[in-house]
Amino acid sequence: MRRILLSTCLLSLSFIALAGTIDQIIPKPQSATILKGEMRIKGPAIKCDPAMDQMSIEVVKKFAGKLSLVSGYTSSVSTPVGLHSVVDGGSAKGIIFLKDNSLQKEAYRISIGEKAAIIRANDQNGFLYAVQTIMQLLPESIYGKKPSTSERWALPCCEISDSPRFAYRGMHLDSARHFWSVEQVKKYLDVMAYFKLNRFHWHLSDDQGWRIEIKSYPDLTRIGSFREGTMIGRSFSSNDNIRYGGHYTQEQIKDVVNYAARLGIEVVPEIDLPGHMLAALTAYPHLGCTGGPYATWTKWGVSDQVLCVGKESTFEFLEAVLGEVAELFPGRYIHIGGDECPKTEWEKCPDCQAKIAELGLADDEHYSAEQYLQSYVTRRMQDYLATKGKKIIGWDEILEGSIGEGATVMSWRGAVGAQKAASIGLDAILTPGSNCYFDYCQSEDTESEPVSFPATLLIEKVYALDPFEGIDEDKRHHILGVQGNLWTEYIKTPEHLEYMLLPRLLALSEVQWCTAENRDYGRFTESLENHGYKILEKAGYNYRKNL
Ligand SMILES: [Zn+2]
Repeated sequence: MRRILLSTCLLSLSFIALAGTIDQIIPKPQSATILKGEMRIKGPAIKCDPAMDQMSIEVVKKFAGKLSLVSGYTSSVSTPVGLHSVVDGGSAKGIIFLKDNSLQKEAYRISIGEKAAIIRANDQNGFLYAVQTIMQLLPESIYGKKPSTSERWALPCCEISDSPRFAYRGMHLDSARHFWSVEQVKKYLDVMAYFKLNRFHWHLSDDQGWRIEIKSYPDLTRIGSFREGTMIGRSFSSNDNIRYGGHYTQEQIKDVVNYAARLGIEVVPEIDLPGHMLAALTAYPHLGCTGGPYATWTKWGVSDQVLCVGKESTFEFLEAVLGEVAELFPGRYIHIGGDECPKTEWEKCPDCQAKIAELGLADDEHYSAEQYLQSYVTRRMQDYLATKGKKIIGWDEILEGSIGEGATVMSWRGAVGAQKAASIGLDAILTPGSNCYFDYCQSEDTESEPVSFPATLLIEKVYALDPFEGIDEDKRHHILGVQGNLWTEYIKTPEHLEYMLLPRLLALSEVQWCTAENRDYGRFTESLENHGYKILEKAGYNYRKNL
């Protein structure tokens, strides 16, 4: 009697523990039901539906490799025919991946019984996210790089049906202010994939450095990728006098793009124009209004020195650059910046003023002629990129003046840009500084934190973002999604970069993935405490312990 009681007790304890793990998945699945029992994982046979595409099968093989390494049991992947009828007949064993044409893009379903785990999806990302969810149902050691054979390798019996709230789930990285190696960028992509993000916005040029090889303008990297020192801390008058530089070759860019594609992540490159161009002007002074000389900036902020858009040679330059960029990045979007472009030089420049006259632009009660001139530049680049099959994204300044149909607005100065874009029928991505700028300090006590941009963004503020705030119901389909931005003026080391990213990225992932009803900050913090931190720990990331 006592023995029976004890085992009943143990059973229910393990049931509670497993029930806990399903509730800890980040981002929380749309629907997840825990069932009684578990499936022991001792080198299970892993089978893929031959109807799956090669990239999806690669996803499963990578998972099998990881499971074999960490659990100590070998699992092989086969692609036998007739899997659907085996599953329908109820005699399936092991982990089985099935292509299910009825599921939407990126959606997946998992059904785990004591003998078999059946995973259904319709595309690579669906299978990827199913695997990420399975990873989170296993002991966190699965994220490690070493065997962990003493763990109890099991999956809880459950039914999960899941799909994302938003199609665009982005994270940005500034490689211009400080340069990040290919290896570090890949590690950044890995943690994005763990939490089901699918867009990597890569900021590749700025006043402080040009980071992407452009074969038709080699001095962009030969000269423009270097600066003569960097300001120290927040002292704008200082300079450490250490020459700083770095760039990605086109081969490295392709490597990153391919790596990201295997993680279901589309790379959105940004070439910021016509402002934030001092590194390019340093390499090619004839592109500026004054002709220079220019020097790649050693401090942060907004430079008055911008591209001269009164000269056709500037458009030749931009088309050559964007043409090469369009070849390197297979995704549908190219980000053309458009933010923080002071008009002081254009107001004085004879070429820019002649262009304004030629185009018949004039000040009106809303905008200046120079703002309309920037709209002309944006529109011309949009039209050019359309010939390459690309759409543009720009920061919300592109709404100033006149904006072309089909442009996508990235709303960073609050949500106003997204609200305005949606109201006039344009797509928008929310990335308001108030909730999405991960270069802000993670504590009110800024002195206790590593040096950062002088503002605070607590993790609960990230979590609290309502992407539909101020958006009329019939315009909400224009909100493509949400993105976190990580500017790196004050961030010099990979450890500091990861510290700023994590764990705020996990909060962001729930804003991007979960419906409003499925978000609960209390549950999230518990999941983070008991599970999220362990993932980051095992996977070897530096992160801030918030709670
Ligand atoms: Zn000019």
